[in-house]
Amino acid sequence: MQKGQINVQTENIFPIIKKFLYSDHEIFLRELISNAIDATQKLKTLASLGKFKDELGDITVEVILDEKAKTLTIRDKGIGMTAEEVDKYINQIAFSGAEEFVKKFKSKTEAEKNSIIGKFGLGFYSSFMVSDNVEILSKTYKKGGATKAVKWECDGSPDYTIEEIDKTSRGTDVVLHISEESKEFLSENKILELLNKYNKFMPVPIQFGTEKTQEKIEGEKDKDGNDVYKEVEKDRIINNTNPIWKKAPADLKDEDYKGFYHELYPMNFDEPLFQIHLNVDYPFNLTGILYFPKLKKNLEVQKDKIQLYSNQVFITDSVEGVVPEFLTLLHGVIDSPDIPLNVSRSYLQSDGAVKKIANHISKKVADKLEELFKNNREDFEKKWDDIKVFIEYGMLSDDKFYDRAQKFCLLKNSEGKYFTLEEYKEHVKDLQTDKDKKIVYLYSSNVEEQYNFIQLAKDRGYDVLEMEGVLDNHFVNAIEQKLSDIQFKRVDADTIDKLIAKEDEMPSKLDDKQKETLKPIIENNIDKVKFTVVFEPLGEDDQPFVITQSEFMRRMKDMEKLGGGGMMAMGGFPDSFNLVVNTNHNLVGSLLEEKDEKKQASTVKQMYDLAMLSQNLLKGKDLAEFIKRSFSLIK
Ligand code: ADP
Repeated sequence: MQKGQINVQTENIFPIIKKFLYSDHEIFLRELISNAIDATQKLKTLASLGKFKDELGDITVEVILDEKAKTLTIRDKGIGMTAEEVDKYINQIAFSGAEEFVKKFKSKTEAEKNSIIGKFGLGFYSSFMVSDNVEILSKTYKKGGATKAVKWECDGSPDYTIEEIDKTSRGTDVVLHISEESKEFLSENKILELLNKYNKFMPVPIQFGTEKTQEKIEGEKDKDGNDVYKEVEKDRIINNTNPIWKKAPADLKDEDYKGFYHELYPMNFDEPLFQIHLNVDYPFNLTGILYFPKLKKNLEVQKDKIQLYSNQVFITDSVEGVVPEFLTLLHGVIDSPDIPLNVSRSYLQSDGAVKKIANHISKKVADKLEELFKNNREDFEKKWDDIKVFIEYGMLSDDKFYDRAQKFCLLKNSEGKYFTLEEYKEHVKDLQTDKDKKIVYLYSSNVEEQYNFIQLAKDRGYDVLEMEGVLDNHFVNAIEQKLSDIQFKRVDADTIDKLIAKEDEMPSKLDDKQKETLKPIIENNIDKVKFTVVFEPLGEDDQPFVITQSEFMRRMKDMEKLGGGGMMAMGGFPDSFNLVVNTNHNLVGSLLEEKDEKKQASTVKQMYDLAMLSQNLLKGKDLAEFIKRSFSLIK
C-alpha cells in the first residue's frame, strides 16, 4: 500500500467543503452519476472508433444502497482508471478544481453562495459533503502494463491511500461511507427522489434497487379467457435514456409529446395546448420542447416550470435569464451544453451567449406561432383565448417579438369573431373614423357589465372589441403607441355619438334656457362632486340618464392603481363621471313641467339610480333606498 498527501496549498479544504456547502448537499449524487455516465460514454466512443474491441456488455450504472453498512455506491462499467490516472485525475486535477472552488466560494456573500452551489460543478470532491470516508475501486479498460485494479481511499483529511486490488470487472465503484449528519442519504426514498430529480433523462441506464410489476404469463388464460398476470420483481431503471427532445420532430406524433408532458409533470393532469420542438445546431447547440399549457387564474404557480438540462443532466428549473421573461409561463425542457452553468446567476444573465439563446428561443416561438396561424387559422383561433396572455406579454416586453407577432396577433370582437390587426383596421375604418381622421377602436373590458353600451354601439353598426384579458389595459396603450392613426375608447367612455364624433349632431328638443332651468334640479339630487351634468340630444328611445367616464380619466385611475403617478400623494385622482342627460327623452322633458318638487326629486333620483345601476355603481345604502323607492313606485 502506498500512502500520500494531497498537495494542499492553502489549508485543509475538507472541513470547508462540509461547512460551507450545507445548503445543497444533495448535488453530490448528480456529480458522481455524471462522472459515471461520462466514463461510460467515453468507452462507447472508443468502441465506436474501434479503439476498444471487447464486448461492451451491460453498461447500466448502478446505485447501491446498503443501509446496514451505511454506504452508498455508484458503480459504472466505463473506462475506469489506472493507479497513475487516479493520482493524476483525483489527487491532482480534481483536487485543485475543488480547492479553487472553495477559494472562490469563501469570498462570496451568503446570497451569492446560494446561487453558486449547484451551478458550479464541484465534481468528485462534493462526495465529502456527505461522507466520512470515500473509496474509489477502479479497473481500467486498458490492457497490459500497469493496468491492475486500484483502490483509493481518503477519510476527509489530506491523507489518502492507494493500493492494488483484485477487482476484475471493468469500471469504477465509488463507495461513500455516509456520515452521521448526512444519514438522510441512507434512505431509499431520498435517493429515489434525487435520482428522479437529476437523472431522469440521462443517456445511460441507471438502476437503483428493484420494483414490483405485473407481468403477463404467456399462454395462460383464466376461465373467462382473460390474460393472467403474475407479480415479478425487476431491476428499477430510473431514467429514460432517449427523451423525445433528442429525437427528430418528424418521427414524433402528438401523443408522444403529450405522453412526455405527463412524464415531466406527473402531478399535472391537464393536456398542453400544443408544443414547439426546438432543434438548433448553429450558432449554438440547443434542443428542447416548449409546451403551451392551459393557463389557470393564478399565473405565479405555473411560472418557472421549464427544466434546464446540459447534455441530459438536470441543472435547474429556474430558467430566469435563459428564457425570455414572457416565456417562463411555458412548460417543458431546454437542453444545451452551451449554457455556462458553472457560474452564478447574475453572470448568466449578462452572458452574451445566453442573451443570444434567449433571443433565438423568442424567435423560434414566434415562427412556430406564425406557422400554426398560417396552416390552420381556425384551430389557431380556437386556441387564441388561451394563448393570448403569452403573446400580449411577449409583445409588451420584447419589441422584436412585437414585430413578429403582428402577423398573428388577433383581436376578438364582442361577437366572437377574430381579426388580425390589419384586418381589423380595414373592418372598422369606414364607419369608425372620426372627424380628426382617427380610427376609433371601441372596446369593452367586461362584455357582461357593459352590455347596454355595447348594444347601443352595435345599433349604430359599430364594432366593439372584447378586451377582458389581464394585460389588455397595457396592450391597448402599446398598440396606440405603435399605430398612430388609431385610438382605443372604452364603449362607456362617452355616449356613443360622442365617441365617434361626426360633424352632424342630432337636433335637441330642449333649448339652452330650458337646460339652464333643469340643471340645478338634477344637481340637487345627485352626487355633485363626482358627477358633472352634461346635456346631449340622444335618441328618444335611448336612456334618459347615462353615466360615462372619460377614457382619459379612467386610464389615469388605472395607472394610479398600478402605483404610478404623483397624484397618489395628494390622495389620488378623484372619481369623476359624466351624467349625460338625454334632452330628447320624454321623462327629461316632463321634469320641467312637474310642479311638485318632491315628485321631481324622486323622478331624478330614480333615473339617476337606474343609470348608476347599469354601470354597476349602485351599492350599499343607495341600492337599498333604490329598491325601497322602486316598490313604492309600483304601488
Ligand atoms: P470533472 O468531472 O468536472 O472533470 P471530477 O472532480 O468530477 O471533475 O472528476 C475528475 C476526473 O476524475 C474526471 O475528469 C475523470 O477523469 C476522473 N473520474 C471521476 N470519476 C470517474 C469515473 N467514475 N470513471 C472514470 N474516471 C473518473
